[in-house]
Amino acid sequence: MAKKYVYSFKEGNKDMRSLLGGKGANLAEMTNLNLNVPNGFTVTTEACNRFYEENEEIWQDLENEIISHLHELESSTGKQFGSTENPLLVSVRSGAVQSMPGMMDTILNLGLNDKSVIGLANKSSNERFAYDSYRRFIQMFSDVAMEIPKAYFDSVLDSVKEENNRDKDTELTADELKEIVEKYKKVYKREMNEDFPQDPITQLKLATKAVFKSWNNQRAKIYRKLNNIDDKLGTAVNIQSMVFGNMGENSGTGVAFSRNPATGDSNVFGEYLMNAQGEDVVAGIRTPKEIHTLKEQMPEVYKEFEDTIKRLESHYKDMQDLEFTIEEGKLFILQTRNGKRTSSAAINIAVDLVNEGLISKEEAIMRVSPDSISQLLHPNFDPEDIKKSTLISKGLAASPGAASGKIYFTSEKAKLAAQNGEKVVIVRQETSPEDIEGMIIAEGILTSRGGMTSHAAVVARGMGKCCVAGASEVKVDEENEVMRVDSREYHTGDIISIDGSTGEIFEGEVKKINPTLSGNFEIFMKWVDEIKRLKIKANADTPQDATQAIEFGADGIGLCRTEHMFFKENRIIAVREMIIAKNIIDRKKALDKIIPFQRDDFYKMFKALNGHSFTIRLLDPPLHEFIPHNEEDIKKLAEELNIDKKVIHDTIIELAEVNPMLGHRGLRLAVTYPEIYRMQVRAIMEAAIKCKKEGISVHPEIMIPLSIDRDELNFVKKEIMEEINMVFEENSEKIDYKVGTMIETPRATILAGEIAKVADFFSYGTNDLTQMTYGFSRDDSGKFINEYIRKGIFEKSPFETLDIKGIGYLIKMCTENGRASNPNIQIGVCGETGGDPQSIKFYNEINLDYVSCSPYRVPIARLAAAQAEIERKNK
Ligand code: PEP
Ligand code: MG
Repeated sequence: MAKKYVYSFKEGNKDMRSLLGGKGANLAEMTNLNLNVPNGFTVTTEACNRFYEENEEIWQDLENEIISHLHELESSTGKQFGSTENPLLVSVRSGAVQSMPGMMDTILNLGLNDKSVIGLANKSSNERFAYDSYRRFIQMFSDVAMEIPKAYFDSVLDSVKEENNRDKDTELTADELKEIVEKYKKVYKREMNEDFPQDPITQLKLATKAVFKSWNNQRAKIYRKLNNIDDKLGTAVNIQSMVFGNMGENSGTGVAFSRNPATGDSNVFGEYLMNAQGEDVVAGIRTPKEIHTLKEQMPEVYKEFEDTIKRLESHYKDMQDLEFTIEEGKLFILQTRNGKRTSSAAINIAVDLVNEGLISKEEAIMRVSPDSISQLLHPNFDPEDIKKSTLISKGLAASPGAASGKIYFTSEKAKLAAQNGEKVVIVRQETSPEDIEGMIIAEGILTSRGGMTSHAAVVARGMGKCCVAGASEVKVDEENEVMRVDSREYHTGDIISIDGSTGEIFEGEVKKINPTLSGNFEIFMKWVDEIKRLKIKANADTPQDATQAIEFGADGIGLCRTEHMFFKENRIIAVREMIIAKNIIDRKKALDKIIPFQRDDFYKMFKALNGHSFTIRLLDPPLHEFIPHNEEDIKKLAEELNIDKKVIHDTIIELAEVNPMLGHRGLRLAVTYPEIYRMQVRAIMEAAIKCKKEGISVHPEIMIPLSIDRDELNFVKKEIMEEINMVFEENSEKIDYKVGTMIETPRATILAGEIAKVADFFSYGTNDLTQMTYGFSRDDSGKFINEYIRKGIFEKSPFETLDIKGIGYLIKMCTENGRASNPNIQIGVCGETGGDPQSIKFYNEINLDYVSCSPYRVPIARLAAAQAEIERKNK
């Protein structure tokens, strides 16, 4: 039997989204729930993929299948395609597997031609409505299917409006609309060298083709890349009989969410416009009314609507985003899907749904994307600074966050400015899908028109980007690049601040403060911690970062890079003196100057950690990184140390390496100069003893970087333990501690069984391990790795997401061999991949004990670890 490429709504269900796309699957599901859904059918994503194999043509069998479903639609609706009495009109809409709002194409009112428009006028007894629909169709079809610029039609519309003194489109009469239709057809003929297609089947074929092709338009490609959506999925096409929101004042159209998508509040939230078609709401052309006013305007319709949206929410067990049309007082549902939401709404909704008994804690945890919660962790405006700032105006709080930057009125200019390192706020009347690249690079987005469901609002929320929409007092003159509020003017380059949580717009830059996490976030993260198995530690080198990490729920510090402590202003000079020293006596003298700083650093860190474990990595980078290389700084250093410049030059020559990436670094330094690590462990233990005496519990874990060999590690370990024992004796006090190593070289992964015998823990430094295994410089390879990603050779950079096939193989083998020879060994990761959700899934699978990442990623990693554990259990 030939493969089936077209399904009527009755044949599908919600679980068929990979074949029918999200929209098609949900239309089918709602049809089977007996909701008022206009009849229709779906051309599958498989058809889209075959369309590309068939050189972008609709093959004959597919055409036949579509036509046969069309005939079924005609009989079920009692209408005929192209009829002069009761014409069938359809919408043709894209519908990908994962929703891509506004990225692909839609055509409404298809089936209208010079004859059926008369049929529509007769049937509806509304000539004005019929010609309004026809002119909309010609414009949409020309734009979407034939790529004739919309502007050509807009100028016809504007001139007819002007000739007849019409302010709004709704004031145009039937005759004026007829004139517009005639002129539109002439535009079509001029551009296409042929008449506007009158045959509805031809229209449908061309429209279906256009929707398939829109899968590969520029904005859809960018959106997919941004949201990690597979290019091979393809889009389905939904062909559905039209209902009309533009049939007069008892008709309308709207978009609604079963809960507030910005805050998570459990009340229905939405907007509608009377006497309008769906696109008018989404495009933000007219500012819509708030959904609750529909209750007064049409109480019965509102009741049905409210019952339906709540029923769908219970059915899908998630917040729904609904599109509806009211045709002459009758409610129709055109689409439902799980609604996009801000991360704070995602958490509030997940917690509420658990409390309402609709979903389990595990399901709630799986609903929130780890990366999205970074939005919650980012700074807000400081209320004190807000008081001192000048409020320009207020719009809708469309997507939370706080953004300051220079105003730009076009995406192109904003992009250029961002490339030059400027912070940018895009200001537009409204955004359109063409603005997507500008929106990606902007700190925030401000629009003067459109509501909470306008393009700007929907896309910004999806990106986790700050957005204030529909600030109607703000007059945006895009052409002259000026934004006016009353008599004040703001031009390109002026700085403004926008608050996406309140809708406020301020002059200049407003200071930001760190967020406090409370309420549902705490409840949610408590569930996360109950489920996750991996410990999540933080990479932190300052007491402030340590405090922040603990506030974000870190189980201690997994990596303190002590060299970062060396760079602080008042100690770098002693470090340089130590490096320039020509003998051990001078070196020790310089180390004696460093030790008080180090001791104080560690003391403060232990205090901030208040009993959490503290993994301290001893000095790692090659020494030349600490010495200035330009003449002016060399001169200054010589003066400060009271030595000849030549001594510094000699040191530079001495330390120079042909290949510093594979140079004298990590514990190789300690083999040459054991006194450096001795100084560091002395500082650690003295600080720990001081804390212990003050009643603060301490758990130091000394980490030796870049091991390659058991004997090498043992040599260094003996040195440092000798020093530690001296400190214990001097103070008549002991501290429990561990000594472990970073695994950052392929050799260490191979010899893990031996190395584990002399290590209490392993921590994978995936930054260096990736560098050494690939043979790519971690500092320079960005240039060509991007090329690899663009050309599809790599999916992602292995420095950000673990290369499971290669490096993951080494890590798994190393972990198994390490544990076999030392069953008590603790094993974790502290490279960049330690904070990456996809990599965390692998680390959980191979039973590592912990991951360590930057403080701001700690909550993300906690959630990713819980999701990984749930997925593992469900396998
Ligand atoms: C690593 O190599 O992964 C690591 C954590 O160490 P660093 O980045 O300091 O080299
Ligand atoms: Mg390293």
